Amino acid sequence: MTKQPDLTKELKHYFGFDKFKGDQEAIIQNLLNGRDTFVLMPTGGGKSLCYQLPSLLMDGVAIVISPLIALMKNQVDFITNLSEHEGIAHFLNSSLNKSAIDQVKADVRAGQTKLLYVAPESLTKEDNVEFLKSCKISFYAVDEAHCISEWGHDFRPEYRRIRPIINEIGKAPVIALTATATDKVRTDIKKSLGILGADEFKSSFNRPNLYYEVRPKTKEIDKDIVRFIKQHAGKSGIIYCLSRKKVEDLADVLRANDIKASAYHAGLDSATRTQTQDDFLMEKIDVIVATIAFGMGIDKPDVRFVIHYDIPKSLEGYYQETGRAGRDGGEGICLAFYSYKDLQKLDKFMEGKPVAEQDIGRQLLQETAAYAETSVCRRKMLLHYFGENYEQDNCHNCDNCLHPQTKIEASKQLVIVLKAILDIKENFRTDYVIDFITGRETEEIRAHKHHELDSFGSGEDEDNKIWNPVIRQALLMGYLKKEVENYGLLKVTAAGKKFLKAPTSFQVVADHEFSEDDEPAEGGISALDLTLSSMLHDLRKKWSRKLDRPPYVIFQDVSIEQMATEYPITLEELKNIQGVGDGKTRQPYAKEFVDLIKRYCEENEITRQADLRVRTKAKDSMRKLKILQNIDRRIALDDIANALGIDFEELLDELEGIVLYSGNKVNIDYFLEDIMDPDDINDIYEFFREQEKDDLQAAIDEFGADIDENEIRLVRIKFISDMAN
Ligand code: ADP
Ligand code: MG
Repeated sequence: MTKQPDLTKELKHYFGFDKFKGDQEAIIQNLLNGRDTFVLMPTGGGKSLCYQLPSLLMDGVAIVISPLIALMKNQVDFITNLSEHEGIAHFLNSSLNKSAIDQVKADVRAGQTKLLYVAPESLTKEDNVEFLKSCKISFYAVDEAHCISEWGHDFRPEYRRIRPIINEIGKAPVIALTATATDKVRTDIKKSLGILGADEFKSSFNRPNLYYEVRPKTKEIDKDIVRFIKQHAGKSGIIYCLSRKKVEDLADVLRANDIKASAYHAGLDSATRTQTQDDFLMEKIDVIVATIAFGMGIDKPDVRFVIHYDIPKSLEGYYQETGRAGRDGGEGICLAFYSYKDLQKLDKFMEGKPVAEQDIGRQLLQETAAYAETSVCRRKMLLHYFGENYEQDNCHNCDNCLHPQTKIEASKQLVIVLKAILDIKENFRTDYVIDFITGRETEEIRAHKHHELDSFGSGEDEDNKIWNPVIRQALLMGYLKKEVENYGLLKVTAAGKKFLKAPTSFQVVADHEFSEDDEPAEGGISALDLTLSSMLHDLRKKWSRKLDRPPYVIFQDVSIEQMATEYPITLEELKNIQGVGDGKTRQPYAKEFVDLIKRYCEENEITRQADLRVRTKAKDSMRKLKILQNIDRRIALDDIANALGIDFEELLDELEGIVLYSGNKVNIDYFLEDIMDPDDINDIYEFFREQEKDDLQAAIDEFGADIDENEIRLVRIKFISDMAN
């Protein structure tokens, strides 16, 4: 293939840049050749140019799908400024009114527009699809493509619909771009977009100037942070916390210690947020304490430290957030605080979610935990997570490399692991493998009859703490790998099989121990009683038949699990169970559930924890109360959201919390009847009635093409409220 020699000239002509960055030229060339293209490039690497430049050179209009409405306008302004033609770039999203949309369409039709930014939900709109069908499309660009995958850190279901819509509009090459993607996410993206044959351009994820450190999180954490900031006085930094409340609290603490700090989260009004961003850029404040909502689109090159107050939910998120430090190539300290208790809290947090989502969420958390606990080079761990091999023994720029631990010989243990994994047919995840090796006869192991195998318990004599490090380091060394398709299943590689035939030395470092005095003792976390759980499931089935209501309407799975953990034996105690409200305790079956639990406890001499968890009636329940009061007064839901200063989606989240997870009753008929067609309400309602389990996604798949997702959620709220509570 001959290179078009004038690409550099075009770059200069349109953008004023003298040369391409990284793989840009090869990527653009590939797209010009009509090839599907996959681009992995760190934040700030220059991904946008990879579709902007070719769109200007090719026939037709390029469709750019991007989730960030706020950034679309910036990009369009940027391109418009480059050109003497009005209308060279446009965007289509929900912020435009009818006449603006008509203008966009007229420009596209006239062939003036080379780049059209479209939000995924606008792309799915029938009349937009109809319109685009009549246009010549040069190519499709999918920016922030990790949003396609549930395994990415920012999954957006609308992204799943991109391929079918492309097929409808008309075929053209596809370029997908992202800054973070593991092997698993990459495969998901290519599959979902139908570009398995795409050429891949992958830049290294290594950021040599970033220093990584993980510290134990103790009661002294606020002091630790204040001390750290004082040591780096006058430098810019970001601190990430998971909750808005923590953000506010910590910002207060910092200010009380004479640190110029501001809080930033999605609950603040946009003027305040813009002001805070500006103050940070202008260095009127040094430190921003933020939820992850901060950082998208902010481009301060000299952020000197990024602190994670709480353990991040995924390593992809962590990488993305730490990536905001040291973008100018200078110092960038990435400090994370880790505690086992945080991990458990996040784990618990997932209980209310659909099972598949929980499973993914937990595995992503496990990866973060592994990163935090390891004594191996953090850079090596991180890069390995993104499918990259870091060959150096010592990076000299992470805590573990600066203070290396002594290695221990674990050749024998690796043999045990490899053999065990092969014996159980390479079909299980780390936790299962460790249970198997250590001879823990769990329910699951019995179900697979694996306790009957010779190698069951083959590692009983070793220190239990050795297995995680052995497995993780075997993954790093390539003796094991995690499958991409069924993520998490451990497989033995060719190198692993070779090792098994002729074992050599295999040295590992033990994990860091994160013990804390204020941590609950082991065993303090109650375990699920499987026998009781299955009895409760049977009882639920019985009532589901009797009342002809789906089982989850009787009690949700989370509620059952929690009952089988906490053993409520009175209706009063039952109310403390997630998903159970007053309404539910008045249902005919409620008494039977607690009676069964009571009998079971007596027969099995179970000692219950005296104090059942009590629901917190703190600040955030004020909001719930306000919502309920306003619904009683039949205020339109969108007005309620406005009055509370939250998005409609957030209001729906709250309502789902109120109805699904706390088991309260609300009557939103007045609003539904106002905004929806009664037939639609009825159809969706009946759909939920016929479902075996509570499955919002199924309903969206069924009706999503015609009915707004929010409306489907509203009907679900009505349904659960009517039927269940
Ligand atoms: P990404 O989307 O990969 O995070 P952007 O596309 O926003 O990155 O680009 C980051 C910055 O790099 C922008 O300010 C952009 O103008 C600049 N940039 C892109 N390509 C080049 C280039 N070839 N030469 C100089 N600057 C570039
Ligand atoms: Mg970008």
